[in-house]
Amino acid sequence: MTATVIDGKAFAALVREKVAGHVARLKDEHGITPGLAVVLVGEDPASQVYVRSKGKQTVEVGMNSYEHKLDADTSEADLLALIDQLNKDPAVHGILVQLPLPKHLDEDLVINSIDPAKDVDGFHISNVGLLGTGQKSMVPCTPLGCLMMLRDHHGSLSGMDAVVIGRSNIVGKPMAQLLLGDSCTVTIAHSRTKDLAEVVRRADIVVAAVGRPEMVPGDWIKPGATVIDVGINRIDKPEGGTRLVGDCHYDSCAAVAGAITPVPGGVGPMTIACLLANTVTAACRANSLTEPEGLTA
Ligand code: NAD
Repeated sequence: MTATVIDGKAFAALVREKVAGHVARLKDEHGITPGLAVVLVGEDPASQVYVRSKGKQTVEVGMNSYEHKLDADTSEADLLALIDQLNKDPAVHGILVQLPLPKHLDEDLVINSIDPAKDVDGFHISNVGLLGTGQKSMVPCTPLGCLMMLRDHHGSLSGMDAVVIGRSNIVGKPMAQLLLGDSCTVTIAHSRTKDLAEVVRRADIVVAAVGRPEMVPGDWIKPGATVIDVGINRIDKPEGGTRLVGDCHYDSCAAVAGAITPVPGGVGPMTIACLLANTVTAACRANSLTEPEGLTA
């Protein structure tokens, strides 16, 4: 079997198009322009690239982008004061604090100071609790993107065996909650899982979010299963230079799977698209307007 390639780049373009349509409707019918504030503390090069890309895509779908760049030695009090100001600003519907933060700042404290209704990353403890109890919440962008692609490919996920490899708060755990919400039978595997290969072989859906290059080989994949590869790993090429690979060994997995997301061009592009989707959802909720269908969990 050769797997169907789930094209995250094309899917993300569709999501952005949908978001842009809702933004236009909010502007025309209600005079509301959704606004996303992104806070970057310090000069981490990867974070700077992400923030630039988020700002650019925010503007492209017609939303307002507010970038706040703070020095690496910014005090916790100053950062919390900025978040308080953004929480109170009616033009700001979404707030994202780019992680990781410099070591002297308490990440949990900072994230939990964001108004949960504006927490478009879905990391606030209230949103984690709402998601865990199946209530309306802000859903973390990467797992939301994975869920959208799975629903698009399969329609219903009900009754499917899903294995999520990785138990992080930003990917693994929320992914498992979302799959449970769609009535999958969910296993969360992690670094201490015994016989990971056997666990993965049971799965109709495999979501790999580990951060170890090509660790899942094709012979762990049940024939016809769907493989969602969240991993983004940079490795050296034998001829020099580097390239990006996922957590799954693409060629051997694609030879067995029914469907697979490539790296790059799979889950990655969906993450920012879902951030934009969450911002438009937050703007609708803030104004008691019907929220867009198909852009949330
Ligand atoms: P993390 O380091 O926080 O968590 C990794 C998880 O993998 C841990 O729960 C750990 O238990 C598990 N793990 C480690 N070694 C293992 C092993 N040998 N077998 C089984 N499980 C093992 O990472 P994260 O933030 O969840 O990110 C995971 C990967 O996803 C990274 O490559 C990251 O770059 C990528 N990522 C991509 C996006 C995107 O937009 N596509 C977003 C977030 C993260």
